[in-house]
Amino acid sequence: MNGLNIVVMGAAGRMGSLIAGLAAETDGMELAGVVDRAEMQGKLSGYGCPAADSLGKILKNGPHCVVIDFTVPAVAINTAHICAETRTPVVIGTTGLDEKQKGELALLAQKTPVLWSANMSVGVNVLMRILPRLAQALGPAYDMELVEIHHRNKKDAPSGTALMLAEALANARNWRLADARVSCRDGVIGARKDKEIGVMALRGGDVAGIHSIYFMGPGETVEIRHQAESRENFAMGALRAARWLAGRESGRLYSMQDVIA
Ligand code: NAD
Repeated sequence: MNGLNIVVMGAAGRMGSLIAGLAAETDGMELAGVVDRAEMQGKLSGYGCPAADSLGKILKNGPHCVVIDFTVPAVAINTAHICAETRTPVVIGTTGLDEKQKGELALLAQKTPVLWSANMSVGVNVLMRILPRLAQALGPAYDMELVEIHHRNKKDAPSGTALMLAEALANARNWRLADARVSCRDGVIGARKDKEIGVMALRGGDVAGIHSIYFMGPGETVEIRHQAESRENFAMGALRAARWLAGRESGRLYSMQDVIA
């Protein structure tokens, strides 16, 4: 085999199938294995590479590879454990991880290179850098709110990207997001507090991902909007992250911010 070997966890899913297809046709990459649940094996037969219902079975024969995981949180953590045991670099795009699970990733990153990012697009990661500057420049008189829209089958809400962006806003004001986040307003709720960041979720159709951030101040509103036109840019970002991660040292949990730096 030539080039960087890629193994995709969740290869029958929306993101996994895109990533596997792109890896197979990208110069300098080989699709070395695809993994999904036993009942999804029928969807893995067309890739022309080893397919299995567990990552362990693929890594057992030891292809030197980077694993890419787009599954569900508990599975992603298990993927990271297997990768840590086999010293295999792993890129995780799965969202909905709780604080404990993120802490677990940070620990596993001591053993093998691990990159986790709730959004692999260049646009959102550049936004992450710009938003704190905007929040600081506009100042505390501007209320900050965020609306995200995703397809009807998305499992977690608010989206991992929305939480990542909201965290950047909270940090810019020296707040803890956990103290400031409001994700539901219903009934007679009274006036908005100063220390609040609304993070609201809409679901429908096949929307790949829209995030709108509002800064609402005296007599004006500034709106920043990112719209993913397709899932391909996330898939390309995941492959870019895999290429970046190959050959890195373990020691700390990497993110897409490191890749675009
Ligand atoms: P999906 O439901 O279409 O795909 C998930 C796949 O994981 C399914 O094929 C499922 O069978 C598989 N899976 C579940 N359990 C498994 C197991 N034990 N072993 C192997 N495979 C297993 O979901 P999706 O839309 O592809 O999204 C997947 C994740 O990626 C979600 O958390 C989503 O929020 C996230 N996501 C991240 C980004 C990003 O840029 N980081 C972009 C889009 C989606």
